Amino acid sequence: MSDLRELYQQVILDHNKNPRNFHAMPDASRTVDGYNPLCGDHYTIFLRLDGETIREVSFTGSGCAISKASASVMSSTVKGKSKEEAGQLFDTFHRLVTGDASGLSAAELGRLAAFSGVSEFPARVKCATLAWHTLRSALEGTEEKVSTE
Ligand code: ZN
Repeated sequence: MSDLRELYQQVILDHNKNPRNFHAMPDASRTVDGYNPLCGDHYTIFLRLDGETIREVSFTGSGCAISKASASVMSSTVKGKSKEEAGQLFDTFHRLVTGDASGLSAAELGRLAAFSGVSEFPARVKCATLAWHTLRSALEGTEEKVSTE
């Protein structure tokens, strides 16, 4: 298990150091700010939608390694997915980081599995889910600012 844990840590460190889709999107369909006051994580998520499909996702901002890596993995995971699929991925991810991964298959988890260790640190769950909460708001188009508090 420790080898796997090390691998997961590598994934998080890599995405923190070299975040994917880390740029502003001037022609985004939707732009939403997300803030986690407990940790100071603060990101802006940009979405370009094509009907029900997420064509592009990008983000800017700063925060701890978990929050940044999660935003990076989220952006590359939901790109090309439908709104509904993105919602299901968020549910899966949320279950994983809150320690309710029973019944989730490795195939469903994919690279999200790197965040399984977060469930042992309840204070970091908000760091890991911030980008996803912000994405959901952007998809719903209801809020311009999200706070985990
Ligand atoms: Zn954080």
